[in-house]
Amino acid sequence: MTPQAVREWVREARRIVVLTGAGMSAESGVPTFRDAQSGLWANFRPEELATEQAFRAHPSMVWEWYALRREMIAKVAPNAGHLAIAAFQQRHPGRLAVVTQNVDGLHQRAGSPGVLALHGNIADDRWLDAPRACCDAQAPEAGTPPRCATCGNLRRPAVVWFGEMLPAAELEAAGEAAARCELMLVVGTSGLVYPAAGLARSTRGRVVIVNPGATDLDDAADALLAGTAAALLPLLLDEERNP
Ligand SMILES: [Zn+2]
Repeated sequence: MTPQAVREWVREARRIVVLTGAGMSAESGVPTFRDAQSGLWANFRPEELATEQAFRAHPSMVWEWYALRREMIAKVAPNAGHLAIAAFQQRHPGRLAVVTQNVDGLHQRAGSPGVLALHGNIADDRWLDAPRACCDAQAPEAGTPPRCATCGNLRRPAVVWFGEMLPAAELEAAGEAAARCELMLVVGTSGLVYPAAGLARSTRGRVVIVNPGATDLDDAADALLAGTAAALLPLLLDEERNP
């Protein structure tokens, strides 16, 4: 299958889902979990830091580690793939939904509306425990998470930690979008990580895999396009561009 044939599918589809994984952000140079494991952090594994248990035991330490990761991610920018998706959404409101496993927030920064971020967004915080009437975040001392001065409830990074469930509302909305779409582009994911595989296998729409190498979902695909998100998505989604 050629990119030209897939462009035709894009043109025909009234509802499109783009499901993205780590490879989506590869050309943006997003640092991985492991890249933050240097210096002070070299002796920790992410599995020891990105958990509720670790945050409750050592909130300042985990907060500082996230501050470093946030700083690293703030320095990178959306790539041509993120921008092609957002531009398509602006030209065709309501026609394309983004479902992502990435926490880097690059789809949102590119201008994509209503991104279903299944693992959260590293730029956001939320309350650690269900907020009470008193809960109001106070400006933190440097290196500590904001907290409620009355009950001590803490703000935590709004990402899904090891051992946690995915957010139910986003998961349900992603399932509905997958069930209803006529075309799903699966971009930069190995297909091994739940729930990408389930979403791609549950759709009755056409499935197109965009990835430099083979994935675990290739058997479910109507077309395989070998290449990166930044190279291929502008070609598939930009109607003005000559293939
Ligand atoms: Zn409170």
